[in-house]
Amino acid sequence: MQAINLESEKKEILARYKGLLKASRRTLQKGDKELIRKAFEVALEAHKNMRRKSGEPYIFHPIAVAQISAEEIGLGTTSIVCALLHDTVEDTDITLEDISGMFGKKVAQIIDGLTKIAGVFDQTSSLQAENFKKMMLTLSDDIRVILIKIADRLHNMRTLESMKRDKQIKIASETLYLYAPLAHRLGLNGIKVELEDLGLKYTNPDAYNEIAQKLIDTEPERKKFIQKFIEPIKEILTEQGLKFKILGRPKSIFSIYNKIKEKGVEFEDIYDLFAIRIVVDTPYDQEKTDCWKIYSIITDFYHPNPDRLRDWISTPKANGYESLHTTVMGPEGKWVEVQIRSLRMDELAEKGYAAHWKYKDSAAERENQLEEWISRIREMLESPEENALDFIDDFKLNLFADEIFVFTPKGDMKTLPAGSTSLDFAFEIHSKVGAKCIGAKVNHKLVPLSHELKSGDQVEILTSNKQSPREDWINFVITAKAKSKIKHALKEQRKVVADEGREILERKFYRHKLDFTIQNISDFGTFLKLPTSQEVFYRVAKGAIDSKEIKEFIEHKENPTKNVKKEQPKTLEQMVSSARGKTDLLVIGDDMQKLDYKLSPCCNPIPGDDVFGFISIGEGIKIHRVNCPNAVQLLSNYAYRVVKAKWNSQQLISFLAGIKITGSDELGLVNNITKIISTQYNVNMRSINFDTDDGIFEGTIMVYVHDTNHLTQLIGKLKKVPGVISITRVDGEKEDGNARSASEN
Ligand code: MN
Repeated sequence: MQAINLESEKKEILARYKGLLKASRRTLQKGDKELIRKAFEVALEAHKNMRRKSGEPYIFHPIAVAQISAEEIGLGTTSIVCALLHDTVEDTDITLEDISGMFGKKVAQIIDGLTKIAGVFDQTSSLQAENFKKMMLTLSDDIRVILIKIADRLHNMRTLESMKRDKQIKIASETLYLYAPLAHRLGLNGIKVELEDLGLKYTNPDAYNEIAQKLIDTEPERKKFIQKFIEPIKEILTEQGLKFKILGRPKSIFSIYNKIKEKGVEFEDIYDLFAIRIVVDTPYDQEKTDCWKIYSIITDFYHPNPDRLRDWISTPKANGYESLHTTVMGPEGKWVEVQIRSLRMDELAEKGYAAHWKYKDSAAERENQLEEWISRIREMLESPEENALDFIDDFKLNLFADEIFVFTPKGDMKTLPAGSTSLDFAFEIHSKVGAKCIGAKVNHKLVPLSHELKSGDQVEILTSNKQSPREDWINFVITAKAKSKIKHALKEQRKVVADEGREILERKFYRHKLDFTIQNISDFGTFLKLPTSQEVFYRVAKGAIDSKEIKEFIEHKENPTKNVKKEQPKTLEQMVSSARGKTDLLVIGDDMQKLDYKLSPCCNPIPGDDVFGFISIGEGIKIHRVNCPNAVQLLSNYAYRVVKAKWNSQQLISFLAGIKITGSDELGLVNNITKIISTQYNVNMRSINFDTDDGIFEGTIMVYVHDTNHLTQLIGKLKKVPGVISITRVDGEKEDGNARSASEN
């Protein structure tokens, strides 16, 4: 069967090879043609007995990938050679050493990168993520690896027809999930659009076909409308001596599909089915002037929607995109999006990184931006302990995000994903600035760490040497960089605490005449059912493991059969059986039994507060206020560990509560306040802390009260002191930060 076609196949292979040479002509220098020829021959020989799923000779694929690399991405000879050879090491007998010997180290390096990430997605989802991370790691070697990989994927998508249905769906989904955003981020707009459309074609053929058909049906109508729209403008632009072309392209099928889905509208209701693009051929230093000139001419004819003006010429997007967009009221009362850009901008927008060979000098700026983006990815990859799936989520978030532009106090511009906070900004400046951040001034106004920034904001970060990252910071940031730095810092903090615990445990072991050996520590950990020694040390430092446990451990060691291993209370029943039930202040659980509990220091609940119980590991039930700063996190992440709690009788026992007082710094004010608290009201103070600044004072007092009534009365009394402006209850003492209590839970 094969034999019949061999001759014509040979001819076809040569024809395709010639097509490739033609496509790469523009970058060819002396000796390049020979190199490409050699790579072609090596690949042809290596793949000679292989066929693609479609039955075609395998060599069609590397030739096509090389052609896409040259023609559509604009890559040079080295990449063309690598593209031709990209499947040889993976699929044939050729080794990396062979490649290195024939084509040099650089080519071998790139092929190595391509081989490592080949066949990657045939795995489970977490493996995919792992491999994607690996793929991004190769960015630090050579960005050409990624670009050739995208070319490879594009050709596979173009030839997906011959694959089995389940494979089609799998490959198309990955394309939508990873490759299209990646192409977008690298500024390969043409490829991104094609990947998305093909992705939709195979994941949702019905929707794809319906929209495609409707686009065909409405084309004559659209053409007429565009004609009518551009008629008057064309004349003036020509009069003004501008060299230009006007295109009226429909939006991609994928973007129309998304609009229908997101906005819940019909195809017929989408007003911006197409955009009119005016591309002006003008020297680099005239670009901006000419684009705004064209804008001015268009808006003389059509009224612009002021909310829809986008100036990406003065401030290009981070992927290098430059263009001037506006939406105007066109004929027949229809809104029309108009994109105005230079020929250079247009080519860069379509081919991204690729078009740089042509605009090397003027594109230095964008080269920098690409570099910056890659270095940001490198930073993300520097934290190897980060879970691959987390990484991919963070990374994708950053791939898709719209951007905002914000400024430092000195006026330097920073690009951040939309939704970034002051804390993201602090980490963007430097990880040390981020770690010490206590707040920020946005446009001279004081804002918290979690404040969401807007484009144009000027941000000054406030730091303190006493500050260090806390658990809840993770919820304040969205950039991958800030997230990974915070996670890293928290891990480090835990390690420091564990190191302290190790020393404490060593002393405790010594006192109990127990050798501080790895075996004993490990056995002790097993006895306590803790996963690592570090966890043991950490709990020792936090006071959750004490001499009692060590004694039990020694008893168990001496007589393993007599003592049942100490069980960590986990379920409510276990809690009940281990409860001492000595207090009747609080009742806990569905049947409201009296159990042992601790009041959590992060919010200092007192009788009368709305509270809930939280089953902590090793520390029994902890009582939190419902409006505790940690409550949301506990209730949403560990709902199964939450138990109901209710105050029962109120005894004259004192509970610690904090109040914050602000006022004007009048003579004797502090004295008046403390007098009321300690003498008139007979309340004990645990700590008092006042700060004055320009006549305003702020103070925190920790007092012992019986319940909320008692506290409310005290606050009412203090409010009457002359000079006091406000009094609020605070969650806890400063040294009992949220981070500590949250990590303990
Ligand atoms: Mn391939």
